[in-house]
Amino acid sequence: MTDRCVGIDLGGTFIKFVATDRQGGASEIFELPTPTDRGPEGLVEQMVRGARTLIDQSTEAGDRVIGVGIGSPGPLDLAAGVVIATPNIGGMTNVPLRDMVSEPLGLPVVLENDANAAAYGEYISGAGKDADDLVVLTLGTGVGGGIVIGGEVLHGAHEIGAELGHIILVPDGAPCGCGQRGCIEQYCSAKFMADRTMARIAAEKPQTALNAIMESKGSIDAKDINDARADGDSFAAEAWDQTARYLALGCVSLTRIFDPDKIVLTGGMAKAGADLIEPVRAHFIDLHWDMTEIKTEVDIATLGSDAGSIGAAGVAWRRFGS
Ligand SMILES: [Zn+2]
Repeated sequence: MTDRCVGIDLGGTFIKFVATDRQGGASEIFELPTPTDRGPEGLVEQMVRGARTLIDQSTEAGDRVIGVGIGSPGPLDLAAGVVIATPNIGGMTNVPLRDMVSEPLGLPVVLENDANAAAYGEYISGAGKDADDLVVLTLGTGVGGGIVIGGEVLHGAHEIGAELGHIILVPDGAPCGCGQRGCIEQYCSAKFMADRTMARIAAEKPQTALNAIMESKGSIDAKDINDARADGDSFAAEAWDQTARYLALGCVSLTRIFDPDKIVLTGGMAKAGADLIEPVRAHFIDLHWDMTEIKTEVDIATLGSDAGSIGAAGVAWRRFGS
């Protein structure tokens, strides 16, 4: 009999499910649509349905499920297992999600922040699987992240640690939705690279292939900038490289604090792969101190959007596996 833990990644559009064994070996990941209009009960029903599918499969195979991990957007009260609020799912205010899922399944459940769960997924079976200490930066519409030190997800004293998108990178810089100024999120996310580039196009009227894209689509995105850069557009290359440099600055500061084995980039912008990681590495080497040899590696994540569910199962293993 093999023990398994179920991981659930709660997203704004889909809920992903996986079962993993102690070594991190994962079942096929499947997803169900997130019911956004049926309140917490509808959401819990869907999560329980998906988890039951995996529990039944395990039972049929002669295995058993020993616990469940849920990665949820937040803010969360981790100790109480409560979702305080979610930006993209309606009706989720002060919902005791952990207990609501645990009760019908008759299994212990642990709640984790979704970005932390994704970081833990990379730690146990992704780009960080050989690392003891790992930092993951998620570059999407915003910037998030997670930190795993010696196998433990870092939460901080008040459960708001590892909010990597809101490290201040530029003193008195661009205002951020969080209320600070100059946050990483304002300089390194795909959205802000695109917004900043569009603002520069409007103000400076540069010679760039992006003008034609602006005219036909009405906007540009990070991929347009990278495509133009790859075609030899110097304005686009500068915009792309500036973002890479800001990212590298963030990575140097993270290295000074945590001295991790690896810093892994994930999220939509990381799909650029070598186009992103090569300039980030070059700037990282350039900006890093020279008092010791550079030992922290900067790399691209390998699990993509599967990291959240695999990591949620891993968090359950960490809690219930002994
Ligand atoms: Zn911020």
